[in-house]
Amino acid sequence: MTLGKTAVVLGGSVAGLCTAGALAPHFEQVVVLERDELPAEAEHRRGVPQSKHPHFLLNSGRRAIGELFPGFEDELIAAGGLHLMPSMDAAYLDGEGWSARKSSSMTMVYSSRVLIERVLRDKVRGMANVGIREGVAVSGLTVRGGGTRDGAVTGVYVTTSTGDEHIDADFVVDAMGRGSSVGAWLVAAGWPEPQVQTLDAKVTYTSRWYDLPTADQRPVSWWWRHLVIMPTPDKGQHPAEHEFLVNFFPIEGNRVIACMGSWGIQMPRTADAFIESARRVRTPLFAAAMDKCAPTSEVHLTRSTGNKWRRYDRWSRPPQGLAFIGDSICAFNPFYAQGISSASGSALLLREHLSRAGRLDAEFCARFLAGQRKVLGVPWRLAMVRDQGYECAVGTEKPPEWRRRVLASVSSPAFSLIVGAAREDAVVDEHFAKVFNLDESLGEMMRNPRVIAGLMRYRIRAALGRNRIPFAFDPQAEPPDTDYSPGGAADTATRTAA
Ligand SMILES: Cc1cc2nc3c(=O)[nH]c(=O)nc-3n(C[C@H](O)[C@H](O)[C@H](O)COP(=O)(O)OP(=O)(O)OC[C@H]3O[C@@H](n4cnc5c(N)ncnc54)[C@H](O)[C@@H]3O)c2cc1C
Repeated sequence: MTLGKTAVVLGGSVAGLCTAGALAPHFEQVVVLERDELPAEAEHRRGVPQSKHPHFLLNSGRRAIGELFPGFEDELIAAGGLHLMPSMDAAYLDGEGWSARKSSSMTMVYSSRVLIERVLRDKVRGMANVGIREGVAVSGLTVRGGGTRDGAVTGVYVTTSTGDEHIDADFVVDAMGRGSSVGAWLVAAGWPEPQVQTLDAKVTYTSRWYDLPTADQRPVSWWWRHLVIMPTPDKGQHPAEHEFLVNFFPIEGNRVIACMGSWGIQMPRTADAFIESARRVRTPLFAAAMDKCAPTSEVHLTRSTGNKWRRYDRWSRPPQGLAFIGDSICAFNPFYAQGISSASGSALLLREHLSRAGRLDAEFCARFLAGQRKVLGVPWRLAMVRDQGYECAVGTEKPPEWRRRVLASVSSPAFSLIVGAAREDAVVDEHFAKVFNLDESLGEMMRNPRVIAGLMRYRIRAALGRNRIPFAFDPQAEPPDTDYSPGGAADTATRTAA
């Protein structure tokens, strides 16, 4: 038995599509309303400008999407997505130098954001009771008893090419992204202004797309598929580009997105400035790699990256018949790659709540918001730990200066300690991967006695010079391809010598 006749999803991007998958089993029909005309293929469109930048799909999101749409991952890979093991396939420059390669249990699927969306869209289009209406702009809500105990959303107004329309709905989900007006419409209808938590660490992304050389034309030293350059720990004089977080991010079609990002630093906007900046990052490898590729796009720059959590969960009387999924409720600094995973995790939670619900009353909406608070709290706290240390950050969550200084001085060394210990210790590695992928909170990891013991053992062995895996290989040289996995070439050579 279904919970109602019509559920309406506002916005047909990743959050909206995941939501449609969550609603479909529980309503007679689901209508997705999207302002853009949607491309048949994996192409950029106006409503999702961030698609021009690299998008990591964390494993919690990969799993949540797979539960909502069985077969998603196979189809993403069949469409060109790359199934890689970052610890073996990525050259990673962190701290003083390149990290050693070694195998781990964590794999990731790399692709463009537009391909993820296209595969999701195909999945949704295959659902018999879901319809996507394109070129339809949502312009308002109809409500009953705004702000009262029985207050509810009952439908939406839309503007189409042929005029205005009203759609009755038993349930509405806002998935219109960072710029959604639903909060303002609810306030105008009688609900109180929601508290909004913000922290904008002034992150800027600048990206350009390239065709890679074919496999037989790549230098032999290119064992890596993905290149990551973390900001320098050096506190002395250096070019601004040494503070950049750089990604040479492989996607489908033998292509790569070259991306530089920074906290609070001016970033290049033109092709010439992009290349000049690339030559000043802290390893020559990035620019050298770009020189071997053919640019296929202009330079794309975005500053729409602040953390923002609209706390609808703190309303004492949230509207019946309404939920929020994706950036419309909580958007993150994209450096932490949490948006898609938080959106798909929320959509999966909504499906679970719907499958247990007898009816869609006020308690249902309040319970869902409370459950979603936990899903969003994990990535939110992770983003805060890092971003609260930046002097350039502004917003309600900016800590007092003394606390900011403590965070700034502790967070980077603590991160390096965890990364170092994860190299040596499989248990620390496993928990660190879970935190990165939003499968465990940072607090849970740091309360785990086995992890604490692993960190201490690493620290002591490092002081005694007894750690097994070397690190900080010269950043001016090519990253070494030696495999330091247990049983790998380096390990075997060491054992043989001993
Ligand atoms: C630079 C950058 C890099 C990022 N990198 C990552 C990453 O590595 N990993 C990750 O997981 N996340 C990343 N994100 C976040 C990620 O893009 C989003 O969290 C994710 O796409 C979910 O977005 P959404 O569907 O909630 O909103 P959006 O993708 O913004 O979609 C909103 C949709 O609503 C539609 N819409 C808006 N208004 C209306 C209206 N009035 N009527 C009808 N339709 C409307 C829009 O056209 C659009 O389709 C990044 C974000 C940025 C900015």
